[in-house]
Amino acid sequence: MPRALILFSLAVAAALPACSGADDYGSARRSMVSRQIIARGVTDQRIISAMGHVPRHLFVPASLRRMAYEDHPLPIGYGQTISQPYIVAYMTEAADLKPTDRVLEIGTGSGYQAAVLAEIADEIYSIEIIKPLADSARAKLAELGYKNIKVKWGDGYEGWPEHAPFDAIIVTAAPAEIPGKLTEQLAEGGRMVVPVGSVFQELYLITRTDRGITKKALLPVRFVPMVRGAGEAEKGEDGP
Ligand code: SAH
Repeated sequence: MPRALILFSLAVAAALPACSGADDYGSARRSMVSRQIIARGVTDQRIISAMGHVPRHLFVPASLRRMAYEDHPLPIGYGQTISQPYIVAYMTEAADLKPTDRVLEIGTGSGYQAAVLAEIADEIYSIEIIKPLADSARAKLAELGYKNIKVKWGDGYEGWPEHAPFDAIIVTAAPAEIPGKLTEQLAEGGRMVVPVGSVFQELYLITRTDRGITKKALLPVRFVPMVRGAGEAEKGEDGP
């Protein structure tokens, strides 16, 4: 191929980052990690590498893929949203995870936060109250090869007692008050990161110590509300 044509082809390839094929979003993802995550002070290498690895564009509706690495939340259907990348990283860092940790997430949504957690901790349990979201997240996570995540369709206010206690709990919808059953399901030394409030919400870090529960306000946030289940108690528990 003549040199000019090769250069032209390379230029076209570079200008069309989002067409198809393997991981055309690699550079968008690297830029997200450096500008939104590292530049804002996240230092945990495991989180930086997880955010650089998980294909966020596959967790958003196809029509929004080109915006997947932008600095804001995106709609995922049913009135719900996938959190802004920085908030995912921030909450993960606040949970101070160890590789051996068992983690409960409330609000599976797209499954993105669960995938980030699964890159860092040992076992992830995630509960979603909207069945089609639970089903599609479970299928997506299985398709991507995550074997250490279980997704359940159910009410997060109940927690997941069969798998408690948890070393960490990450709540990605905002309750009006800290749900008591979740605090009960924290292991000693366990951390819960939870947005609390309605119009004005604050992200809290709750820690269970041998002397009781401590509560620290981290930053003001904006999450979708954590809704109450409508009595459909016996919902399916299935693996991916
Ligand atoms: N972590 C998600 C973001 C989820 S948005 C992600 O990475 O994409 C919050 C999610 O919490 C929504 O999907 C919403 O349906 C769910 N939710 C709200 N109330 C809930 C409850 N009581 N139990 C479980 N999930 C709940």
